[in-house]
Amino acid sequence: MRLSDSITTIKGVGAKKQILLEAMGISTIYDLLEHKPFRYQNRLSREPFMDVPEGKDVLIGGILINKRLRSIGKGRTMLECALRDESGIFHAIFFNMPFLEKNLRLGTDYTLFGKMKWRNGAKTIVNPEMYPTDSPRDIRGIIPVYRRTAGISSNELSKLVRSIVDKLDESCEWLGDELIEKNNLAPEDYAYRNIHFPESGAAYNRAKFRLIYDKLLAFQYSVLYNRRILDEECGNSKIAPVDIGKFLESLPFRLTLGQQSAIDDIEHDLMNTRAMNRLVQGDVGCGKTVVAETAIFHAVSAGWQAAFMAPTEILARQHFAKLSVDFAKFGMRIALLISGLKSAERREILSGISSGDIDIIVGTHALIQSDVEFAKLGLVITDEQHRFGVNQRKILSEKSEAVNVLVMSATPIPRTLAATVFGDMDFSVIKSKPSNRKDIITRYATEKSRERVYANVYNEVRSGNRAYIVAPSIEENEESDLISAEALYEELKIKFKGLKVGLIHGKLEKLEKERIMNEFADGSINVLVSTVVIEVGIDVPEATVIVIENAERFGLAQLHQLRGRVGRNDLQSFCYLICYSDSENAIARMNAMVEISDGFEISEEDYRLRGAGDLMGTMQHGYSGNSFYDLFGYDKILKLATSDAEQILSKDQSEIKELVDIEQLQLRTNNIMMQDNSNII
Ligand code: ADP
Ligand code: MG
Repeated sequence: MRLSDSITTIKGVGAKKQILLEAMGISTIYDLLEHKPFRYQNRLSREPFMDVPEGKDVLIGGILINKRLRSIGKGRTMLECALRDESGIFHAIFFNMPFLEKNLRLGTDYTLFGKMKWRNGAKTIVNPEMYPTDSPRDIRGIIPVYRRTAGISSNELSKLVRSIVDKLDESCEWLGDELIEKNNLAPEDYAYRNIHFPESGAAYNRAKFRLIYDKLLAFQYSVLYNRRILDEECGNSKIAPVDIGKFLESLPFRLTLGQQSAIDDIEHDLMNTRAMNRLVQGDVGCGKTVVAETAIFHAVSAGWQAAFMAPTEILARQHFAKLSVDFAKFGMRIALLISGLKSAERREILSGISSGDIDIIVGTHALIQSDVEFAKLGLVITDEQHRFGVNQRKILSEKSEAVNVLVMSATPIPRTLAATVFGDMDFSVIKSKPSNRKDIITRYATEKSRERVYANVYNEVRSGNRAYIVAPSIEENEESDLISAEALYEELKIKFKGLKVGLIHGKLEKLEKERIMNEFADGSINVLVSTVVIEVGIDVPEATVIVIENAERFGLAQLHQLRGRVGRNDLQSFCYLICYSDSENAIARMNAMVEISDGFEISEEDYRLRGAGDLMGTMQHGYSGNSFYDLFGYDKILKLATSDAEQILSKDQSEIKELVDIEQLQLRTNNIMMQDNSNII
């Protein structure tokens, strides 16, 4: 078994499971191992039932002293059990499981896991898991809980992962002894086994240390590698001066100071011999697209081709439409290259690109990896997320001798991290927003004020504006009480009389998604219920309200991204966060959203509230669901990884083998670069 093997090589994963897993971004064994529990249940030792709090999952147990099966009408049954532990007698009840009665033996010691509740004045555990304490099928230990996504339960995932980690051995180790010993690292197989099924708290921490080291090593290697390539790639990336005034004058607005200075930086890079590798960072709505367009205008006017890549096809289409309009009067030829084109059409576009007839190619991030041959590629722009891993960088340099790269991101990262995370890039920050913008009014609501929120939304939309309503999950499921987009859609269709409500989510067909987005954009849909698919980049200026259900489930950065979908014209916009948790942290995050409108400040606050870098932090929270940037909070590991990455880079091919498996390293750098966006959590 190799980590790069497809998940279909796992017993029990057929075509149907494969689709479900791939929808979660899991296509290889490595991906599965990297899908870490978002929390754990501590079932290490039983507690006296007297001491356990109400409403929390607990592990208790005792000797069964009584059982009674009763019928409670309509064919339903209730099995009542009484058990005794050292602190007294407690009850367990099971609804509609009459078959259990026969199997349970009086006088036997049982272990139970479930929630304790008060019921008719007695502490009672309802429908717990229950096993004879001495049975081999023990439920004790630290049990992983995976975030459930459509169709695959945490239990199922846990079984799949178990079958993999049981087979892992030292053959999956990709670091040489030197690095392992020097840094006192746990072996790779141990790390994966214990991040999923920790033997103890200490084992979990060792595993976590190792896996964070792996990520940071790959990341730092990639940053240093890119920096070196850029320093070597000289000469051919120089683009002739061009009068960009013609383009700027064609715009219906004047540039903000931030836009102007980003453009100045880019101009300087383009005309320089050293290839551009610049990140333009600016909050949603600050107007990054026109900055990218100016760069394209320059490159194309000087006789080069430009590729513009977006993270999703919806966005690629949107950019294509915008660029087509904005460049029409300059006679630039532009094409959209996405999957699902008719083969004749695709062939024609490809030949246009390789002959140089097409100047601007818009597509998704797959564009650069595919078989596209460019006549004279001079500029690559990626919008929202994603820089280049070592492999992609190599592919890029094969497409053209020295390509100028411009990355645009709305993900502000804490200033303290910028120099490390973007060590291979120069960056321009756009701080100002177009001056016609009003701050979005953000309100924080609870279940109690939920109805009022929807009443406000109804009024706002009836007066002619449009609204997004975001839910954290697609469909209802028993295991969670998250609001689902489907249920919300049904609810709002009834609530919003006379309005057209639409529903969009990731599982819809591509064409269907597009149709719905278009209807929302042209106003035939007024209220769009969605999952986070709308998160990145979508621009519908008429939308002035966004409601986010289960706001407590989203990170601050993500909430801020979502909020940025409104406030895109000169009307007053509103953002309602409906929060169903009263935990201190959730409330602090809601308040941060209400009070702070600046993305950078939000990111600092996010970083602070997450308590990044706390390696000994409670296991309850795991770390997998957190932002990529949290990794950089582990200062000590970061230092080790950085100096090791430098060492690897200073060695020649034959020496590197001693330190790492270079193929694995590259696999990991690509993987981590793809994740480099805290939007998608
Ligand atoms: P983002 O930075 O989120 O990608 P966009 O480029 O989509 O933002 O711009 C958001 C909106 O603001 C667009 O409708 C765009 O036309 C408009 N816009 C951009 N720059 C300015 C400006 N200087 N003045 C007024 N409106 C602007
Ligand atoms: Mg944008």
